[in-house]
Amino acid sequence: MFKRLYAFHAGSEYCSNCVFDTQSADPAGISEIPYFFYLIEHSNGFVAFDTGVNLDLIRDMRSYLGPHAQDWKIYVRPNDDVRSQLGKIGVDIKDVKTVVLSHLHYDHAGGMNLFENAVFLVQRDEWGFALNPPGAQQNSYVRSEYDVPAGRLRLIDGEFDIFGDGTLILVPTPGHTKGHQSLLIAGRTSSYILAADAAYVPDLADIPRLPVASLIWSKEALIESRMNLRRLRDRYNANVICTHDTDFRNSLNLAPAFYT
Ligand SMILES: [Zn+2]
Repeated sequence: MFKRLYAFHAGSEYCSNCVFDTQSADPAGISEIPYFFYLIEHSNGFVAFDTGVNLDLIRDMRSYLGPHAQDWKIYVRPNDDVRSQLGKIGVDIKDVKTVVLSHLHYDHAGGMNLFENAVFLVQRDEWGFALNPPGAQQNSYVRSEYDVPAGRLRLIDGEFDIFGDGTLILVPTPGHTKGHQSLLIAGRTSSYILAADAAYVPDLADIPRLPVASLIWSKEALIESRMNLRRLRDRYNANVICTHDTDFRNSLNLAPAFYT
């Protein structure tokens, strides 16, 4: 049974509006693009959705990411790592046994190595893509982040019900990357969709508003994924939560507050 959902804001980057929306009315304006990860409390245990940035990026992002760090104007605080953030709500990261990766970009996979006891749920398509990312996508992947023991990696093919009770369902949403996935949380009273990078505005009104080419694996797949998310939202009357929602300070309850 689904009990609680926590949303952790852990770092941001500042970039021109045209990066995430090439049709922006104010293309040169600068927006704060937040980084998020989430913790779900389920009667079968804790499930993390994404893991934030790496401790080494927090310590010295230029030597960690190279010159891109400067281009991307990333701001992180010393305690923005997933272990510190979970500690703030009294959760020991060792007690999190299941971690879902929406995809393996550095702002989502950076904290994987801090989960000592978890199994990582990654779409098989994402795994293959991340081992050999094409073109500009290479800048967003850091191989060492997902260099996890094979026994703790579970590759998923398509839709997957994590605990088999219909409450936490992985939904493939390719487009941003080849194996991107989102998570449907079907609660008894409320439902949520953690869209990650499949959409950037929670009302999903942005279907044709695409980011720049370096943030897209397949335009067609991204549009189809957004249409799938709309159908899912309508079927479950779900609230959609987007990782990089620029309006997050108004639209989200941030941890230690939570959703039920
Ligand atoms: Zn992202």
